[in-house]
Amino acid sequence: MSTPLVTVWRFRDVSEALLAKGKLEAAGIEASLADENLIRMYWLYSNAVGGVSLQVPQHRAAEALELLQQPIPEAIPSGSPGVNYMQPRCPKCGSLDVGSEGINKFVSYGTWLAFGIPIRVSSNKWHCSACGNEWETMAEPDANHPEVSAETMTRIHVATSNKGKLRDFSDAARALDVDAMPVPDFDKIPEVIEDGETFEENARKKAEAYSQHLPNEIVIADDSGLEVDALNGAPGVLSARFAAAREGEKPSDSDNNYKLIQELSLRPGCERTARFVCVIAAARDGELLGTFRGEAKGEILQMPLGRRGFGYDPLFYVPALNKTFAEMSGEEKTQHSHRGAAFKKFLDWLKG
Ligand code: IMP
Repeated sequence: MSTPLVTVWRFRDVSEALLAKGKLEAAGIEASLADENLIRMYWLYSNAVGGVSLQVPQHRAAEALELLQQPIPEAIPSGSPGVNYMQPRCPKCGSLDVGSEGINKFVSYGTWLAFGIPIRVSSNKWHCSACGNEWETMAEPDANHPEVSAETMTRIHVATSNKGKLRDFSDAARALDVDAMPVPDFDKIPEVIEDGETFEENARKKAEAYSQHLPNEIVIADDSGLEVDALNGAPGVLSARFAAAREGEKPSDSDNNYKLIQELSLRPGCERTARFVCVIAAARDGELLGTFRGEAKGEILQMPLGRRGFGYDPLFYVPALNKTFAEMSGEEKTQHSHRGAAFKKFLDWLKG
């Protein structure tokens, strides 16, 4: 009897689906696409059936999810020792959300198979989706030296080691003309235990503690999470640890997503409405300056869609945009997300 196949991801775009399939196959996981001919011939209908489905044998589903959810690294080792290939950045705003015309797709596909990411080769015209900047050639733009004048910017430090959150904050900061940088040597500071019962409590605890390590500077920390109506608001403040089997365990994003899919599948026909909540706390020298709350409403999909973002982004669908958070550009996520909303409130307060 053949092993049953399960769908682990969906794509609106065939080439994206092929790249993901290649990535799984390169890792030794047999993968196949369903409905790709439908999407090729009847693009309009394909959304109705959920785009192209990427399927794997059931016993390898968790492994495949884990691989597909790995973020594209900012730098990967190139063939020659000591040299790193850097993800291209916008020379104006430093965003990684850039694309080029004239990419050698064949080579990009090959490097995806070989290294797990598509290396963009032989580009000439580049475009930044975050700030709209356009430039020519791949003269290595430098994120540390953006063309924005430092004197005109407000500076704040963000206390988090979560790369997804950092990216969200820098996208939001850029859009609002603020210089947001990580707290230096954050990994060397003792971790604050998030044992509060509310987002406010945890965010406050983190901001007060971390700001003591950076005298005279405004430090922000957020506590955020997903509240699903059918689960009576769970996972809520426990979002990062939703799939943890025991105290102290830190599950991966894909474990958490998998658990959420499972929990909702046990409640057929339930409302799939949910909201993301983010509370930002700002502090200086251990003193709280204020807390700022933002929310975003959406629905939980049965299957992940989109490869950007982090955490529950591929499952969080915003009907008004017909996109999940994982399908949005940095700018779009800032406009529609809980973190963007909380950050705007914080800045209004700061500038006011
Ligand atoms: P914490 O704020 O460090 O407790 O972690 C919050 C957790 O909520 C993250 O690890 C994610 O799982 C989830 N989360 C918070 N904000 C987002 C978001 O913008 N997208 C996806 N998941 C999020």
